[in-house]
Amino acid sequence: MDTEGISIYDKTRLLEITIDDIVKYHGGLCPGIAVGFKATKFAAMSLWGDEIPKRDDFLIIITNKLPKCAVDALEFITRAKTRGNLIIENTDKERMDWSFTFARKSEKTALNVKLRQNAPKQRLPKMDRDEFTGFVMRSKIGDLFDFETAPYDGKNDEPNRPL
Ligand SMILES: [Zn+2]
Repeated sequence: MDTEGISIYDKTRLLEITIDDIVKYHGGLCPGIAVGFKATKFAAMSLWGDEIPKRDDFLIIITNKLPKCAVDALEFITRAKTRGNLIIENTDKERMDWSFTFARKSEKTALNVKLRQNAPKQRLPKMDRDEFTGFVMRSKIGDLFDFETAPYDGKNDEPNRPL
């Protein structure tokens, strides 16, 4: 199980956020929490490398079909929702959409991150959900996601989107 936390600055305060912290905030461990935690960690490693990210340097774009639990994980780690750094786009997709675009505003770099495999197509019965959560938590981050560099232009630079 991958229990190592995420290091992140809130202004000048260094935080170490673990999966347990997020579980406490959310009220339980579930697929959304597990995927949201791992995806954010993956983005931090990819876009910041050895540097420690600042919360306010994140811009996150998701669709309205990302399960709400995952949004809780994003919010707890980055405060993107409350600080205006979360963009939710509408999609006509009928299925869950386990994909994220993470952008690093200061460097104008961005990454698409998408859960690779065994993603449920719809809400699973509880037993299957627990199994899926376990799978996500046990998996190495590099095995969980497909990713590609995303352009940092156009929509990310619209004036109503804080930079
Ligand atoms: Zn949940």
